[in-house]
Amino acid sequence: MDEPCPLVGVHNRLSEVHKFWHDMLSDYQKPESFRIDLNAAIQASRNTTFLLQSNKSSIPNFDEWYGNYQKSMKADEILEWLHQARNVIVKQKDLELHSIASARVRAWGDVSRLEFQISPFITTEQIAKDLVRLHAVQAPKQIAEHAILNVERRWVVNDLPNHELLDVIARGYKFLEKMLWDAHKQAHLDIKTCEAKYVPTHEGTLFIPCMSITRDDRSANIKLSNEELLPKVEMIDVKKSEPEKYQESLERYSEIKPPLPNHVGDIFEFVKIINERARQMLILDGHHSTIFILCYPDGWYNPLEVRLDDQSSKYVLIRSVADQVKRTGANGVVAISEVWVIREDERIGNKLPAEHPNKSEALQVSAISKDGIAIYSTFFEKNERGEIVLSDTHEMKPNSFDLMKPIIDALS
Ligand SMILES: [Zn+2]
Ligand SMILES: [Zn+2]
Repeated sequence: MDEPCPLVGVHNRLSEVHKFWHDMLSDYQKPESFRIDLNAAIQASRNTTFLLQSNKSSIPNFDEWYGNYQKSMKADEILEWLHQARNVIVKQKDLELHSIASARVRAWGDVSRLEFQISPFITTEQIAKDLVRLHAVQAPKQIAEHAILNVERRWVVNDLPNHELLDVIARGYKFLEKMLWDAHKQAHLDIKTCEAKYVPTHEGTLFIPCMSITRDDRSANIKLSNEELLPKVEMIDVKKSEPEKYQESLERYSEIKPPLPNHVGDIFEFVKIINERARQMLILDGHHSTIFILCYPDGWYNPLEVRLDDQSSKYVLIRSVADQVKRTGANGVVAISEVWVIREDERIGNKLPAEHPNKSEALQVSAISKDGIAIYSTFFEKNERGEIVLSDTHEMKPNSFDLMKPIIDALS
């Protein structure tokens, strides 16, 4: 039976910082809640050091050991600010928060940009709607139907204007975490056991942004044509979050050849297997979901299923996938989806293939890495019995792939 760690209280306070950081992130577009979460995160950070100090008897040579950490906290602009900020909050004063927004009109790429200061009390969604209503932003006619307005918000405080607040809290957290593990060493405590017990995990998904975020996490996206807020793209790590469904699909597709390899060596060989399997799965199911398979330098790969509802969300989707790629250090991506295609000579201006009268349906499987791009397209139709009839697969190795550009840029 293992004894509880003598520093259990410190572990728990630090876990609170982690929790409040996530609350700040989810409340990023809600000024009032964001302020409450920020205060809580600052308090919990300070409580972590208080509790460590009150446990000084279990840490040999504490004063000298802790004195060094205090010195480096004082010397660091952000850590020193965190320390002072807590004193402000305790005196019931509010930190002077403000937020900066930048707005962009996007279709396949950025069309225009604006940057301005905004009242901290307006939600990002409202800002986006006001910009549209006041005609402050407009999309060129040809893309008006699909363009989105992206409004990115940044929270800062007056006396630390160059540091975004999620980054500030994350920085404090990492410092405290390092100090806590060092305290374990100093007191000869078992770090491994404590790691297993107290390091926060995220059930169900690997892909919650944790302690590091990108601009898209701080953004709201609005479809210009109808002013509707686009939901954050839902990406599902099927293996982890829906294990039963994943097991079922393994059984359902067990007859499909070639089998999935355990590791990805060459992504351009891997994509051939995926394409062959996707063709058979399309026949079996009558449809194919949109899936991105992220591949890693050590050969590991992870499929993400994406739920998409309209064409505009595609812009948001590709950027979300690019974020995951960056966050997790993927070096290749295989994308599988059903697409509408038109023949080049039938293209009508900027009309999207989906709106073209002579569109055809195709299954598209592509592989992208720093070494190149391979796209496999298979046209298909449904016959009168509703069965899928596939044509041959066409292979292309283009030099660029506009739709996937954000992902290509994010690959390591
Ligand atoms: Zn411990
Ligand atoms: Zn986390």
